[in-house]
Amino acid sequence: MSDATLERIGILGAAGRMGRSIAQVAGEAGVEVVAAVDRGESVGRDLGELAGVGKLGVEVSPELDALEAAQVIIDFSLPAAAGELFAKAASWGRPVVTGTTGLDAAAMEALEALTKAAPVVAAPNFSQGVTLLFHLAAEAARRLGPGFDAEIVEMHHRRKVDAPSGTAVRLGEVVAEAKGLDTTLHGRSGHVGARTDDEIAVLALRGGDVVGEHTLFLAGMGERLELTHRATDRQIFARGAVRAAGWVLGQGPGRYDMTHVMGL
Ligand code: NAD
Repeated sequence: MSDATLERIGILGAAGRMGRSIAQVAGEAGVEVVAAVDRGESVGRDLGELAGVGKLGVEVSPELDALEAAQVIIDFSLPAAAGELFAKAASWGRPVVTGTTGLDAAAMEALEALTKAAPVVAAPNFSQGVTLLFHLAAEAARRLGPGFDAEIVEMHHRRKVDAPSGTAVRLGEVVAEAKGLDTTLHGRSGHVGARTDDEIAVLALRGGDVVGEHTLFLAGMGERLELTHRATDRQIFARGAVRAAGWVLGQGPGRYDMTHVMGL
């Protein structure tokens, strides 16, 4: 453990939606972005101007090696780029916070090797509220026991193409595990018969510009508990990632997720 404070981060995927969001959040948190790596048309542009926060004096570079100057590297890119970063960061012994999803076998292997050399926070969802929702959902389902039926409803904007959301599916898994069940089902339609004790439905609503809402219902006889998370801004992921970057600096090598960052 060290008590170093976070002053300098590097971003891989800096010109992407998440990378720009991290540049905004870092500025608010008083953390300097010392290296911004991306590719294509963004190369050579000022990160602050791309992120809409005014000139920062940090040009987007195509060179991964620029990231060595950072205390912690935050990665929201693509699996191939992330895998390359993990190998470099292992040779530098540099902590990494990574949110890139869909890692392939090669990137997973590089991630595993990195965790032997440096601390890594990897999470499919960096929202602090969603991380706590999973924790509370498991606790509530366990304590209320089999007399309470669990059901999950999620709602997202009309452009979302997959359903149910990855977060809703994960919430179903967390609750199923807490209740000792191995079944979740995605939706009901037609003459499906009465609800059984060992099912959890995960239902998806779509419409408008809803950023993301998830509700767990725990319905018993005569009472019902509802736990809801509502996202109103995609910056929640960037805030969680910057919080994780501050936390990871004090850790030894290993693989961590947002539950560790939040002390759950
Ligand atoms: P995006 O497409 O807007 O940004 C990705 C950026 O990475 C792009 O600017 C792209 O040019 C850059 N990039 C890709 N390959 C590169 C390479 N070889 N070298 C340099 N730069 C490269 O996507 P996004 O919405 O910012 O999401 C990025 C990743 O983060 C995705 O995997 C997404 O699923 C994930 N994500 C995770 C969370 C979470 O909480 N864990 C939240 C949002 C998004």
